[in-house]
Amino acid sequence: MGELAVLPVFFALKGKRVVLAGASERAVWKAELLNATGAQLDVIAADPCDAMRVLLAACPNAQLVERTWQPSDLPGAAMALVDAYTDDEASTFQAAAKAAGVPMNAIDNPAFCDFQFGAMVNRSPLVIGISTHGTAPVFGQAIRGRLETLLPANIQAWAQAARRWRARVVPLDLPFHARRRFWERFSERALGVSDMPPRDDEFEAFLDSAKSDEAVPTGRVTLVGAGPGDPDLITLKALRALQGADIVLYDNLVAPEIVDMARREAQKIDVGKRGGRPSCKQDDITAMMIAFGKAGKRVVRLKGGDPMIFGRANEEIAGLVAAGVPVEVIPGVTAALGAAASLQISLTERNLARRLQFITAHAKDGRLPEDIDWAALCDRGAATVVYMGVKTMDALVAKLLGHGMDAAMPAVLVERATQRDERRIVATIADMPAQAKLAHPDGPCLLMIGLVFAPLLIPHAEAAGAAALYT
Ligand code: SAH
Repeated sequence: MGELAVLPVFFALKGKRVVLAGASERAVWKAELLNATGAQLDVIAADPCDAMRVLLAACPNAQLVERTWQPSDLPGAAMALVDAYTDDEASTFQAAAKAAGVPMNAIDNPAFCDFQFGAMVNRSPLVIGISTHGTAPVFGQAIRGRLETLLPANIQAWAQAARRWRARVVPLDLPFHARRRFWERFSERALGVSDMPPRDDEFEAFLDSAKSDEAVPTGRVTLVGAGPGDPDLITLKALRALQGADIVLYDNLVAPEIVDMARREAQKIDVGKRGGRPSCKQDDITAMMIAFGKAGKRVVRLKGGDPMIFGRANEEIAGLVAAGVPVEVIPGVTAALGAAASLQISLTERNLARRLQFITAHAKDGRLPEDIDWAALCDRGAATVVYMGVKTMDALVAKLLGHGMDAAMPAVLVERATQRDERRIVATIADMPAQAKLAHPDGPCLLMIGLVFAPLLIPHAEAAGAAALYT
């Protein structure tokens, strides 16, 4: 093991005497913390602040002793803290605590401390402590914030169930392996993707599966939306699913940073198309997921944007359901909404778009689909987002103009929406194919069409003024 700056240990203080010498404002939080542990708290201070008086008045296990602390206060205490005004006082207190054999902390003065208080995440009985060894408490707090977001919402209920169920497991005197399996099943469920609170009737199920030797954990597949590219746009639920996965099957549209969010030990499999290499066939992907699911693996199928938007999710879901593998879907931010956010244009601006439509311009054979509703696309009161619309853009625009779309209808092509190298091309619909060719887009693109995009074409026009222009 490399250097360990401090040893994390967890003190059980219930019923034990703790001395807090001094009571300025900064000692109040420590008093509150110690009181929450159930300690017998002696606050010794000649001039306690008002907040301390108020706090202690509400704490039956705490007493306020209004005088200066003395070395004789320390013997027999489980822990001692000093809220010292000077280094001299901190040093004197440290010597007195040492003589009494009591571990001590000088608040906000790491040079005189036997131990430090770190930041913490409290889901009692689960408690997570974070230390920067006194170097950067604010950094510790920021890490605490990050951990808070990673923990499943029901983790405290699971920690409480662990306490209850331990009392039931111990008397059963199970063999070591069965006991271990019980707690493995328990942890899998507690940290699993479904994020459900424990039910008391699950105890027996865990026990049964722990007792049977060949018990295979039930696998499952989660279709997860990875969002449009910016890694910060994935959901907390998606992050948790990634961190609980044994296998991650990802598409080429998914940013590498997001694939990296998966557990380090997870097997990551690229099932997308890149550099001319053919992608895995849809049937092969479904078959792979079924096989892994049946082998008890937790599989995450990671898809760009939202899995339910032009993602062939139904085929995968139907295959899994038919094979009896449990499946779940976690939504993501679809590309259109990512693009709207970066353009800062509402797709449903009241006066300009009463309707929003997502279409694909790419049929199974790679050509423009035959059955597009042209009247709907030419509706001046609609905003249209075309997915997979680059290859067939010439044909699409010719049809739109042929069906009566105004040649001056504003359009924007957004490439790699929300990613660092996002690009946009703004043009009238009639000019867009030529402009797009000049720009040579090589990333995923959305073609967005409608009066709501007029402010991009005429940068200084008020949206309402632009509407007037085009009506
Ligand atoms: N399920 C995805 C869409 C998959 S279809 C979603 O909800 O976003 C693939 C098409 O999505 C691409 O051809 C492109 O039109 C669009 N797309 C995906 N990510 C994009 C991005 N970051 N910027 C622009 N278009 C994107």
